[in-house]
Amino acid sequence: MQSVEVNGLIFDKYLSAEKIAEIVDKVAQRINSDYAGKEPLFICVLNGAFMYASDLFKCITLSSAITFVRLKSYEGTATTGEVKILTPLTVDIKGRDVIVIEDIIDTGLTMHGFIQQLKEMGANSVELTSFLFKPEALKYTDATPKYAGLEIPTKFVLGYGLDFDEKGRNLPALYVLRSSES
Ligand code: 5GP
Repeated sequence: MQSVEVNGLIFDKYLSAEKIAEIVDKVAQRINSDYAGKEPLFICVLNGAFMYASDLFKCITLSSAITFVRLKSYEGTATTGEVKILTPLTVDIKGRDVIVIEDIIDTGLTMHGFIQQLKEMGANSVELTSFLFKPEALKYTDATPKYAGLEIPTKFVLGYGLDFDEKGRNLPALYVLRSSES
């Protein structure tokens, strides 16, 4: 499908499923090489990252575990974003090398708060992988993903786990909202 309609809005294809697979594999190879000899713990942030996490984890050749969290972020003051962990972590992360898996980093608010909490819980190291990264929208630089699949402009995207009003997550390709000029 070259374009899809969701709730009356048109989205145009941005990345094919094949291209996505290539990007995911490249990220996984970097992680495999950087963490050689280590046993990182992956934490997938639900809901949006479930598809990326699944594909990425299949390409990870390290001895490693994966767990899942659901987060809620609140726009706090300009400097402190408050993030609540809605589903408590079931794994002890003390002393672990943690790799957080996100779908997309926009302002970085959610990851800014979450990374701080993981460090307070005693993680040995915390790194971030995000399938997509919008560098122009970033407000919290500590949420810059070390392992970003692809940098994209500040536009709304859909598919490959990312939703619009809970729709579109099942699309195997990535789509971008058609702007009014196009
Ligand atoms: P941040 O805290 O970095 O501002 O926002 C990150 C979250 O916002 C993502 O995990 C995702 O849920 C949502 N988000 C940001 N940009 C987009 C986008 O272009 N499309 C969709 N579907 N969600 C987005």
